[in-house]
Amino acid sequence: MLQLATNNETGYWQDLDRAHHLHPFTDTAALNRKGSRIITDAKGVYLWDSDGQRLLDGMAGLWCVAVGYGRQELVDAATRQMTRLPFYNTFFQTSHVPAIEAARAIAEVAPEGMRRVFFTGSGSESNDTVLRMVRHYWAQRGLPHRNVIIGRVNGYHGSTVAGASLGGMKPMHAQGGLPIPGVAHIGQPYWFGSDRSLTPEEFGLRSARELEAKILELGPDRVAAFIGEPVQGAGGVIIPPSTYWPEIQRICRKYGLLLVSDEVICGFGRTGSWWGCQTMGVAPDLMPIAKALTSGYLPLGGVIVRDEIAEVLETGGEFFHGFTYSGHPASCAVAAANIKIIKEERLVERVRDRIGPYFQEKLRTLGDHPLVGEVRGIGLLGAIELVKDKATLERFPNEGETGLLCREHCFRSGLVMRAVRDTMILSPPLVISEAEVDELVTLARRALDATAKERGLG
Ligand SMILES: *Cc1c(COP(=O)(O)O)cnc(C)c1O
Repeated sequence: MLQLATNNETGYWQDLDRAHHLHPFTDTAALNRKGSRIITDAKGVYLWDSDGQRLLDGMAGLWCVAVGYGRQELVDAATRQMTRLPFYNTFFQTSHVPAIEAARAIAEVAPEGMRRVFFTGSGSESNDTVLRMVRHYWAQRGLPHRNVIIGRVNGYHGSTVAGASLGGMKPMHAQGGLPIPGVAHIGQPYWFGSDRSLTPEEFGLRSARELEAKILELGPDRVAAFIGEPVQGAGGVIIPPSTYWPEIQRICRKYGLLLVSDEVICGFGRTGSWWGCQTMGVAPDLMPIAKALTSGYLPLGGVIVRDEIAEVLETGGEFFHGFTYSGHPASCAVAAANIKIIKEERLVERVRDRIGPYFQEKLRTLGDHPLVGEVRGIGLLGAIELVKDKATLERFPNEGETGLLCREHCFRSGLVMRAVRDTMILSPPLVISEAEVDELVTLARRALDATAKERGLG
């Protein structure tokens, strides 16, 4: 452990990183001026960097490390599988035990009536698969013109062409001429980001009814599906009011749209149920999954399909879609072992009954901070809104700068907390202990204090 630190080689690795490595979602010039942080080790909810600094990982990697770092069961599952059968495809009328086991394990915890899984390599590929499945479904039903999918502003569905198109991130659309044709967007159910003249419940209904207006604008005979994350993650942990999702479901049923619940973040217990759609009280037709499916130990994604939809898809002959790594044996072995841990350690129940409520209670103690306009969360998701004026909730000028500043202070304090514009967000591993939650909140307060001081507040 921490070999790099003792060799004092941080600069060496930073130089090589600059020379050869292009990072995702990164301003390369800015990073290269500063030098990247080299993460070397991890255990439980903690990371270590090459200077030997310990960081509490408030983001579970990228929302994925549900069971925590250093789980030997997952390492063993991968090792056993790679020794026996490191790769085989599932294309040409072949299958293998780990893909079958993983599919069964997923089906066992999936909502009622969703017993089929199509495997992919990531969440983005899962949403590309959704787009193709939805259009293939309507074509099979003799309605090929029903091909428009409606997503939401600031939704995140991945970074491939279809994923980024379904998502509603303006800066992503601006690079490369997205969205592709046949994708439309409505607003997000972001009450704090609204003028707050309505109650959250009224606002939730109004937001959901944007879907009906968009369907009528496009023509109900053209609209195929609606896609949304139960809680928008990368968009800033946007928790819709309780009225929102039931109204979305009602509208989807009224006009016959397929409902796609992107469970890439919310799945596997994050919100205190196995699936975010269950927390929100809706029954989707398709559920893209990834991230916590393997706790991030190996890449794997999938789409869980409602039985009736799978039956229609099956009438269409060959579905010309799939990936070399669909159902990768080692990834699937890790997924099955990971789901076993989540079940045996009752992590979903733990989030619902114990650590989720504890985390929410402690996080809300930050609400008294002069920099904080709102603290919200559900399960083990949290968001802290940074404001310039606590009384009027006025935002800072140069949106995003204060969030980045706070993120820097978090790193310095020993905490990984992510910034989305001026919203700080959290998504710790599901195994985080009460004492670690206390530490997280203490470190967050320290970072908020330092940020406020630098902004001339408090
Ligand atoms: C991360 C994410 C994706 C994309 O997953 P990748 O594995 O990064 O391709 C899709 N949907 C949601 C909700 C996500 O958070």
